[in-house]
Parts: sequence; C-alpha cells; structure tokens
Amino acid sequence: MKQIQDFGDDRNKGCCVYCGGPGETRDHVPSRVLLNEPYPLELPVVPACAACNRAFSRDEAYLACLIECALTGSVESAKSRYKVGVMLTKSPALATRLAAARYERNGELGFNPEPDRVRAIVLKLARGHAAFENNEPRVDDPESVRFAPFTAMNESEREQFEIGGSSTVGLAPWPEVGSRAMSRLLTGADKGPGGWIVVQPGMYRYRVDWSGGFHVHMVIREYLAAEVVWE
Ligand SMILES: [Zn+2]
Repeated sequence: MKQIQDFGDDRNKGCCVYCGGPGETRDHVPSRVLLNEPYPLELPVVPACAACNRAFSRDEAYLACLIECALTGSVESAKSRYKVGVMLTKSPALATRLAAARYERNGELGFNPEPDRVRAIVLKLARGHAAFENNEPRVDDPESVRFAPFTAMNESEREQFEIGGSSTVGLAPWPEVGSRAMSRLLTGADKGPGGWIVVQPGMYRYRVDWSGGFHVHMVIREYLAAEVVWE
C-alpha cells in the first residue's frame, strides 16, 4: 500500500482508537492474522492501549480460522492457508471448538459462528479504519454492526453492499482536511473500483463512506462482508 501521510488534527492522533485510553502501543488495521505473508508494505497502523491490543488477538485468530474453515469446509490444518494451518495446529482447543461448530444441513456444510466474537472484531476493524482514514476515532457505540458471508446474500444485496452509499462524493460532507481520506480523494492512492481500498487482493479490502452517516464496509477473504454504521 502507499504510505499516505496524515496531516490531520493532532488532538485525534494520540488516544487508543478502540477505547479512548492511552495510545501506548501501535496496532495494525487489519490485523496481520487476516493477511498472508509477505505483508503489504506500509500497513495501516493506529494507536491502541496495551489492554485493547492484547484483548482482541484471540478473537482475531478465531475469526481468521473460522473463515478459512468455512471456505474449505474443514478444520484440517492442511486444507487451510498456511498461517491458519499453523494456528489450528498450535491451538487444538480452537480446532476442537471450530469442529463442534461444524454442521451439515441438506447436504450443505457450514460453521455456526459465535456472533459476539465476530461482532467484536468487525467493530474493532471499523474503528481502526475510521481513525486511520478519516482521523475520526469512533469509540462511541455504532448504530449498527452487520456481517454475512457473500454466499448468504442475493445479487441485489451484494450490489448494494459493493456500491452502497452515495457515489456523488461531491455532495457529501468532506473528510477532514489533511486526513488520509482527503489525500486519497485527491490522489486515488490504493483505491480500486467502487472506492474500495485493497489491502491485499483476495484477503482484505475496505471502504469508508461518510455520506449519510459514517459507514465502514469490509470484505475479509472475499467471503465475509461486514458493515458498521455510525450516524
Ligand atoms: Zn484501548
């Protein structure tokens, strides 16, 4: 990814973007567990307190493994991408838990997610993107947190997700002057079709839209679609 300097308001830069506490550590958004090596250069980084930085890692590992299991239909480490395979091998408890979440219905394989854990990570990621792109930490509760696999969405739901929000950016409130969102608006850096910022093709992309509320859309592994909205 391109390094985009942030010239935004310094008052928004020091605090933990997840809870507003002291920004004593740095956290990658998205977490590297959701990406493959070699990692993209200049991965987005946000300030986080030590407690938040630690608190999410188990659920992030869970989500990365859950998605891979859903894609391969298996909790066998050999079938997963390398990093997830290592995690499943190192954590038999996690593999067992995922195996218990596996179901077969009408000949179709699936995994029942633990919604609270998925929600926690989706919200965490959205807070990170909001802070990184728009210099606008959102530690307040969002209006909604939604997520679903693309496979569970029909065509029009998917289209709405991909291009939803106002495409007439000029009519929307402008992002803060000096923020990365403003720089991207001017230079198009890392932007793909529909305004998506592709962190790693096939692995992770996101889009921040500040028209009609504040929307963060994320796609993990081209499988899980997630949206967090603040009004
Ligand atoms: Zn924190």
